[in-house]
Amino acid sequence: MNKFLVFLEQREGIVKQSSISAWNRVQELAALDGNSVVSGILAGPVDTLQLDGVLAGDGVIYHAGEDGFGVYNQEKYTRVVADTFKREACTALFFADTALSREIAPRLSVRIQASLLSGSTTGKGVADGVSRRVYSGSFLASFVPTRQPRIYILSSSAPVPAFPDGGRIHFIDMEPQQCSVEDFFPVVRNIIMGEGPPDVAEARIVVAGGRGMGGAEGFALLEQLALLLGGAVGASRTAVDAGWRPHSEQIGQTGKTVAPALYFACGISGAVQHLAGIGSAGVVVAINSDRDAPVFDAADYGLVGDVHIVLPKLIDLLKEFLKKQ
Ligand SMILES: Cc1cc2nc3c(=O)[nH]c(=O)nc-3n(C[C@H](O)[C@H](O)[C@H](O)COP(=O)(O)OP(=O)(O)OC[C@H]3O[C@@H](n4cnc5c(N)ncnc54)[C@H](O)[C@@H]3O)c2cc1C
Repeated sequence: MNKFLVFLEQREGIVKQSSISAWNRVQELAALDGNSVVSGILAGPVDTLQLDGVLAGDGVIYHAGEDGFGVYNQEKYTRVVADTFKREACTALFFADTALSREIAPRLSVRIQASLLSGSTTGKGVADGVSRRVYSGSFLASFVPTRQPRIYILSSSAPVPAFPDGGRIHFIDMEPQQCSVEDFFPVVRNIIMGEGPPDVAEARIVVAGGRGMGGAEGFALLEQLALLLGGAVGASRTAVDAGWRPHSEQIGQTGKTVAPALYFACGISGAVQHLAGIGSAGVVVAINSDRDAPVFDAADYGLVGDVHIVLPKLIDLLKEFLKKQ
């Protein structure tokens, strides 16, 4: 019997969409496998009612709801996950691909002596190994980690199965003695980002720009478009290296992998390292002044033109359209 444990990440009491997707993905794997149970670990004071109807399948979620878990603390989180994993005799631990999981998964692999595989898209069943894109997304390779237990960081490009009805999830509040919360590394300052656009890795629509935007000020157009569409702004590495956008928005091999339903590539040439990050995007729209730019090969719709002319027109048209709705 395989026992899968899924880490559910919260921020400010809200469980991340990427964690909900990871849970549902693991439920699908368990269903395929036929010999697996899924449980979860959720750290932090969270109103679990928010998870009603969004988590698929059957399972137990262990909730370490003490205030001490409200703010991420590497050592505390590592400890509560490792303790739960061992106590429940789990065989595999799953994370969504986030900055937090990239930090604690390696610690956990040492703590529980597990193989760690990041960027997994998962195949038919984890027992047969998982798939992972290699060489800038050019190939899909299969990996079978030799050591048990196993930790997987699921790529955000992994397709999320549709579960029309929620599952039957049972929450168990952990007793304080089950989750020791001494402060080895107290949090000195917690900086809370204001309400803003969605994270580029989780957004349904991404409007990305590259060198062709001409500078940081050129991205104001993309911000306008993203705002109208309810999407997030992304960037090529060139735009990030130039300091026009933060690294958190970089898409590609050394940035984030995104899987939006709609992706705009504006003034982006379409280098293989950039395309590695958008392999699972739905519809790709490219706007580029060079009709031979490689990005057009990866696009569903291509617009040859100057972004400084095309984008304002597109924004005006969209405003008109939205006014009529
Ligand atoms: C190990 C490694 C890792 C990398 N990781 C990443 C990564 O994660 N993400 C990433 O993006 N890159 C990555 N790169 C860099 C990548 O190889 C490219 O250099 C980069 O993606 C190019 O960015 P760009 O398309 O913005 O710029 P360019 O390649 O310079 O392209 C600019 C494009 O804008 C067009 N353009 C110019 N002016 C206009 C205009 N006014 N209107 C419309 N179009 C215009 C041009 O025709 C051109 O196609 C990596 C490279 C290496 C070696």
